[in-house]
Amino acid sequence: MITILDKNFIPYITTEIIEKRISELAAQINADYEGRCPLFIVVLNGAFLFATELIKNIPLSCEITFVRLSSYTLTESTGNVREIIGLEEKISGRDLIIIEDIIDTGLTMTQLLEQIMAYEPASVEVATLLHKPEAMKKQVAMRYVGFEIENKFVVGYGLDYDGLGRNLNALYVLA
Ligand code: 5GP
Repeated sequence: MITILDKNFIPYITTEIIEKRISELAAQINADYEGRCPLFIVVLNGAFLFATELIKNIPLSCEITFVRLSSYTLTESTGNVREIIGLEEKISGRDLIIIEDIIDTGLTMTQLLEQIMAYEPASVEVATLLHKPEAMKKQVAMRYVGFEIENKFVVGYGLDYDGLGRNLNALYVLA
């Protein structure tokens, strides 16, 4: 067990199991994108370790870029929206693979995909380390999913609890 701030977290998925699964996802991507040159869009901060482990197993010709999503901003027409920050590459006509840490309700990814589709990419697929099917409010097409997990708060392997725990080399769950 580890303690972050005042909360106790218990081991959930080991480094060995995480990395084995990520290498399987990489093999799938290598097969799917053979002969193409995808652009990986890594969503910071949470996806940084997943993206590193995934992409180092992908010897394809590819480009990699990093984006952040703004905090929620309220607009009269659309309600809460998160805007993409840092996307400088030309993405129209490209094969995109978005790399995310976790898809929980699916609301963040839905908004991200809507904004990305406006640039008319050739294709878009989503790779997520974790997915909580029970928490899903918006259906998102996810081609590459590391683990489907219970509806519990997880930390480690890039995911934080109040800014801490991203450095942990395995996944932990709130006790
Ligand atoms: P969604 O919009 O799908 O509900 O939320 C996605 C974002 O919520 C993730 O990118 C992540 O930042 C955060 N999130 C959702 N579930 C968890 C969790 O169990 N642990 C942590 N650390 N973050 C989570």
